[in-house]
Amino acid sequence: MALVTYTDIGFYCERADLYIDPLRKVSKALVTHAHSDHARPGMAHYLCHTDGIGVLKLRLGRNISVQGLGYGEVVVLNGVEVSLFPAGHVPGSAQVRLSYGGEVWVIAGDYKTEADGLSPAFEPVRCHHFVTESTFGLPIFQWRPQAEVFGDINAWWRGNAERGITSIMLGYSLGKAQRIIKYLDRGVGDVVCYSTISETNRVLEAVGFDFGAWVDGAKGLDAANYRNGGLSQAMLVCPPAAIKSPWMMGLERFAVANCSGWMAVKKSREWGAMDQGFVLSDHADWPQLLGAVLATGAENVYVTHGFSEAFSRHLRVGYGLNAGVAEVMMRGDEGR
Ligand SMILES: [Zn+2]
Ligand SMILES: [Zn+2]
Repeated sequence: MALVTYTDIGFYCERADLYIDPLRKVSKALVTHAHSDHARPGMAHYLCHTDGIGVLKLRLGRNISVQGLGYGEVVVLNGVEVSLFPAGHVPGSAQVRLSYGGEVWVIAGDYKTEADGLSPAFEPVRCHHFVTESTFGLPIFQWRPQAEVFGDINAWWRGNAERGITSIMLGYSLGKAQRIIKYLDRGVGDVVCYSTISETNRVLEAVGFDFGAWVDGAKGLDAANYRNGGLSQAMLVCPPAAIKSPWMMGLERFAVANCSGWMAVKKSREWGAMDQGFVLSDHADWPQLLGAVLATGAENVYVTHGFSEAFSRHLRVGYGLNAGVAEVMMRGDEGR
């Protein structure tokens, strides 16, 4: 019996009776980060990185039972050493290392290897078995350094502000939004945050993250307390779902941009009615995925979450690794 198996509920370490990012209610869930496709409600007990406790409670409820672990700290569950390492994905995100009897597994969750200056940088962990995501696991996905992208974003904002047009930037409430906010040029105008982003900011600031000055737009844009210029000079940051909300109904002249890895695909449905798209992702691109896999030294690689077929084939053919789509490989099915 392998130390980790793949079940209908997700990755499972039977010896430790521990599920990683489980899909349904279990007694012990290790949550790699608080995004909704990884952190689900209803678990009897949660384990996550210490910095992720606040956002987990914000999303799943104040009264959940949750234990925090620092990076590199070890808990032993029925002989299995469980520890977390930085995934560089969003604040509080972690890779999970499980070790027992000389067998080491790492389940990376979502990750990126470019250091973003916000979340602690991704750390390669040596292991025998590596579970990797593949959200952008095709060679067409190759990110530019974030400094260049933020240069473009700030130039776009400045251009709008000079013409009296309010800028609106879309980014997910946990991770992308804070990364954008951190690097916006306050010399142009104020940064105004949508309610869910403001709440997330405060919870993360409480554990030491710093995104620079921002204005809470929760009470409405008229009530926002502008320091530089006014609303026409401002950058509003909101989640994609808020784009048609009453929040921005009062705006007369505005331009909307999306900030996502999917902006690399010109015909992506995520473009919608965007005026501008910036290619910026909290996931690894193709070279980062490859680099991360090779740095682990793992001979067995299980690929999930995205272009798992294409990426695992590349690892088999190009690098001779025992790699496959996690669901297929870990059930021992034929035909991968
Ligand atoms: Zn995520
Ligand atoms: Zn995910």
